[in-house]
Amino acid sequence: TTTLTNNLIDKIDCPDINHGLESDVTGFASKALIQKVLKEQIARINVDTCEPGEEDAFYVADLGEVYRQHLRWKMNLARVKPFYAVKCNPDKEVLRLLAKLGTGFDCASKAEIDLVLSLGVPPSRIIYAQPCKTKSYLRHAQRVGVTLMTFDNTDELYKIKECYPKAELVLRILTDDSASACRLSTKYGASLEYAEELLHRVKHLNLNLVGVSFHIGSGASDPNSFGKAVKDARGVFDQAATLGFDLKLLDVGGGFVDETFETFAGNLNEALEEHFPTNVRIIGEPGRYYASNAFTLAANVIARREVAVDHEGGKGYMLYLNDGVYGNFSNIIFDHQHPVPQVLARPIANELPVEYSIWGPTCDGIDVITDRYFLPGVIEIGDWLFFENMGAYTKCSATKFNGFSDDHEVIYISSEPGASALLGY
Ligand code: PLP
Repeated sequence: TTTLTNNLIDKIDCPDINHGLESDVTGFASKALIQKVLKEQIARINVDTCEPGEEDAFYVADLGEVYRQHLRWKMNLARVKPFYAVKCNPDKEVLRLLAKLGTGFDCASKAEIDLVLSLGVPPSRIIYAQPCKTKSYLRHAQRVGVTLMTFDNTDELYKIKECYPKAELVLRILTDDSASACRLSTKYGASLEYAEELLHRVKHLNLNLVGVSFHIGSGASDPNSFGKAVKDARGVFDQAATLGFDLKLLDVGGGFVDETFETFAGNLNEALEEHFPTNVRIIGEPGRYYASNAFTLAANVIARREVAVDHEGGKGYMLYLNDGVYGNFSNIIFDHQHPVPQVLARPIANELPVEYSIWGPTCDGIDVITDRYFLPGVIEIGDWLFFENMGAYTKCSATKFNGFSDDHEVIYISSEPGASALLGY
């Protein structure tokens, strides 16, 4: 289910946020606005009388955050056209906003391709960035006109030759992604030696090679990763030229993180200037960078257990929430994140910190959100906790394990007039 609220920005007492690029101010305003909406929403829910499910965890999504990230991208990486990685968060309103902002889209499957096309995005703004594709999906891509796609092995080339011989191919090369939170090069990417063999194979099969791609790993932490990857890509361009290919596209993948974005963008720009001065179209596949900050999750405390926390009689609590690692906190397992709990709704000033461990609702012991965290005051059953930065790799990998919902309400707001105007709220 989905709720659209009006643009609430004029209803909250916060600093001027019209300047989309002053992120300190806007980040503060966005947080204040989100907390106001969270409080309004939970005020409507009475856990003592509500119907089953009415107290389910829910999101507040500030699309102003997505909008500001886009402005920031354009300011810092003007040469790189973003193709948003849909897998990160295929939320329809996020996609609708990005479609209106003119980004492209990185799709990994038929369903993602169809979702993006359903928003009226032309197939030319999609890259099927999945080096190992399902045959029937390849035929589908051909049918709907999605031409651009990645590959990294010979078997894939034969498959493409059979299913979609006119596809525009982008050779994905290996990177050193050892400094990233989620490594991808253990699974995908051709080494430089293998890339050379692949170039010969493409030529032999008379396929249409248009460019090179790489991914430095999701949640990258080494800004120098781009320098090495861009240099390697240059090497493949040069090898390809000796075989008669005139490559026109470099895809620098994703990996960008909010906190370090400017540093990574600076390094990438430098590398591009050195190795790709002109004539090559550059695209990227950012996911987390666009989606992470925009979503805040609220979850209800459904149960509590008092426990001893030391040998001197100190007491703490195990709290059980109605969402956990099999749900929206799937990012703890798959994305190695550590969501930070905050208390919503009660005045908490001057309350002493109390020790908690926080658990999800399923019967599995792995379903733990945090082993040990101090929150102010004693939290009661029925209280709400909230978690910021829950927009990336969260609800897209939620399950129904133990019969809990995998489809949580999202309340959409916009702290940015530019986004509100585009979206009509
Ligand atoms: N592109 C590809 C091919 C990916 O596999 C991923 C993430 O797994 C992304 C882009 C998005 O990465 P990030 O969210 O780190 O920007």
